[in-house]
Amino acid sequence: MSKADTYTIEQISEIVGGKVVLFDKEVMIKNLVIDSRTLINAPNALFFAIKAQRNGHQFIANAYQNGIRNFVVSEDINYEKYPETNWIKVGDVLSALQRLATYHRSAHQLEVIGITGSNGKTIVKEWLYQLLSADYNVVRSPKSYNSQLGVPLSVWQINDSHNLGIFEAGISTTGEMKQLASIIQPSIGILTNIREAHDEGFTNKVEKLREKLQLFEGVQTFIYSPEYILAEVALPGKQKFTWSFSQPADLQILEVSNEGTNTVLKAEYAEEQIGIIIPFTDAAAIENTVICWATLLAMGYETEEAAFRLSKLVKVGMRLQLINGIDHCSLIDDSYSADISSLSIALDFLNQQNQHAKRTLILSDLHETGKSADELYQEISILLKQKKINRLVGIGEQITAHQHLFEIEKSFFNDTSDFLAQVGQHNFNNETILIKGARKFGFEQVVKRLAQKVHDTVLEVNLNALLANLQFYKAKLAPGVKTMAMVKAFSYGSGSFEIANLLQYHKVDYLAVAYVDEGIALRKAGISLPIMVMSPEPSAFDAMLRYQLEPEIYSLEVLQSFLHFLPEQVSHFPIHIKLDTGMHRLGFELQQIKELASLLKTEKLKVVSIFTHLVATDDEQHDEFTKLQVSKYEEMYGVLTSSLAYQPIKHVLNTSGISRWPNYQFDMVRVGIGLYGFDAALAKGELQTVAALKTTVSQIKQLQPNETVGYGRRGSLPNGGQIATVKIGYADGYSRAFGNGVGKMLVDGELVPTVGSICMDMCMLDVTGLDVAVGDEVIVFNEEHSIVDLAKEIHTIPYEILTNVSQRVKRVYYYE
Ligand SMILES: *Cc1c(COP(=O)(O)O)cnc(C)c1O
Repeated sequence: MSKADTYTIEQISEIVGGKVVLFDKEVMIKNLVIDSRTLINAPNALFFAIKAQRNGHQFIANAYQNGIRNFVVSEDINYEKYPETNWIKVGDVLSALQRLATYHRSAHQLEVIGITGSNGKTIVKEWLYQLLSADYNVVRSPKSYNSQLGVPLSVWQINDSHNLGIFEAGISTTGEMKQLASIIQPSIGILTNIREAHDEGFTNKVEKLREKLQLFEGVQTFIYSPEYILAEVALPGKQKFTWSFSQPADLQILEVSNEGTNTVLKAEYAEEQIGIIIPFTDAAAIENTVICWATLLAMGYETEEAAFRLSKLVKVGMRLQLINGIDHCSLIDDSYSADISSLSIALDFLNQQNQHAKRTLILSDLHETGKSADELYQEISILLKQKKINRLVGIGEQITAHQHLFEIEKSFFNDTSDFLAQVGQHNFNNETILIKGARKFGFEQVVKRLAQKVHDTVLEVNLNALLANLQFYKAKLAPGVKTMAMVKAFSYGSGSFEIANLLQYHKVDYLAVAYVDEGIALRKAGISLPIMVMSPEPSAFDAMLRYQLEPEIYSLEVLQSFLHFLPEQVSHFPIHIKLDTGMHRLGFELQQIKELASLLKTEKLKVVSIFTHLVATDDEQHDEFTKLQVSKYEEMYGVLTSSLAYQPIKHVLNTSGISRWPNYQFDMVRVGIGLYGFDAALAKGELQTVAALKTTVSQIKQLQPNETVGYGRRGSLPNGGQIATVKIGYADGYSRAFGNGVGKMLVDGELVPTVGSICMDMCMLDVTGLDVAVGDEVIVFNEEHSIVDLAKEIHTIPYEILTNVSQRVKRVYYYE
């Protein structure tokens, strides 16, 4: 970084305003952080105590402990508690961050492409980076940092060596874009498209479009499709460049044809016919490519050069995938890109994994503009120390040349094939391995070598969506209300420690499982949160003690046998009391409370919580019953605690209860199916889809009229046709009830019915008239063909569909 790119804390205080208490006003600020755990270079970092889902002020002590000495806050802080620190106190911390980013942006002269729209922002940004980085030193948003917080952090990365910025902006409601526009200050504007996504925050389409277009008020060139524009909205930009699939435009697509795995596009541009061939076939990728094509032409690239570059585009894997590796390893696949900001994100994810004690990074040479190789690898070395990485495997000549900078277990290879040739002797065992490399190193091969062979049916679990759902419910809670996350039945079929790890990292207060085994598995994977076990079998009491698992006590018998079992020296062992207020499944009833109370007057136990389960929180019809249950609960709680010297945690609400009964939150809520994207009390679209079940085609057959399919000749296509055999059957959890056309799957974008009975390991689909080949992906359920639809097809509930997916189906977790 040159001089213009560093600020002292004093300069920053002048830029953002506010009151200052400075210990050392000359401290240089290099990094801005908003999470007390994500640290690069702590002494030169400035912590912004943002009030979002959680109040950043609560993490100041933690940040201090991690070495941070510079803070921007809006609440009163006892500065004395933190020796040798600098403080800037402002009215609103987020605005201060945005002001600083705006200032930083204004201090740099460079071309900036600003991107907004409903879909495709991140892909278009990454592709433009691929297309333009040969000619420019590009700075861009990491991943999809496009929010009120993400944009300022993205823009802060600009330094004097950059001559092109590519930033995306996403908004969810009116009034937000103006702010982002002043931070990004784009000179070229791209509107990708306008779709239904995130419509809730706007009263109508005109309002939504106007809001988005505010990003482009000052641009030289505005690139868009008239298909997404409404007549009553004025358009920004001194110049315009249009593209369209259906109407006259600067770049008008005339023909789209599929050739195997490629797509050929023909278009008219500047009164000439031009064309490109691209290595994708899906509609979204085609639209995103056309947007990039229009951008290249608008920036003055020759048509041939544009076509050449577009033909080389590579699919962007935006995801960090967590997959099972060989020899008891877990792999995080981030094999498509390598720069320091995404490395830092990936290392955070690695750091969150607790299932193996050892954390390993396989890293290629990095390229980072504006930094010398010495500085770069020095910084990486510090980063590895902070993120507690135990082992480094470096691949590439540059990283090998800098191996002396790393003070951990390490080995180096000049290139990927060297590594692959020696990987046999290079033992990986029982470790979590992050694989991260620049594209030219071809790290897909490393992933392939180290990954366990995946059965062709996989359940993909989107951890970001799960997190968004958690935050959705947390936002509904009154201050101080705790969260217990229900991870029973392998997290409703979605995984086990992978999900518990995420929940632990994001600070839920409690976990609950059904059986002791599930609790032990979580402990073995490094989960340290308190865990409640709902069916504590006496044969496993011993294990509960050893693994610090807390039983749910639901009857006098269970209580007596637990008391009997507890060794002499144990005192205050945590338990949870379940009351039956109308479910009539497990739990104490009113007439037993007196006896229960007298048994609980022992030093051996500590009642951590007292709870009940409500039977119909989602159903208006039973609202009177719900109220009755809660009043019974309160009465029983009162009697029970009148003889205890303390007040155990009170909790009654499940997922739909949180949505519908805000005044019954008491001290804690228990969120279950909502985390996984379902809540009978909510409209579709309020939660994010977490799980997708995918399989593949093993064979295609042509059927004559009157031929039959499967056991008992139950399937037939009266007019003949084409069937596809796919690799999922009832042993994988695809119920036999889906047979004979009841169930449907998505093939090539079309919903097609099953034919004949579902077999144990496979089933057949009617794919007559579709372009399907062996090996093609088939979607059993995802966002579009939802579990809710499947549940309706066979008259059950989403819970059952999800938990039925058998353990032999591999889970793949990803994190964006
Ligand atoms: C499973 C369960 C929950 C969670 O219910 P959801 O409807 O999935 O939110 C809450 N409490 C108890 C006691 C449960 O068994």
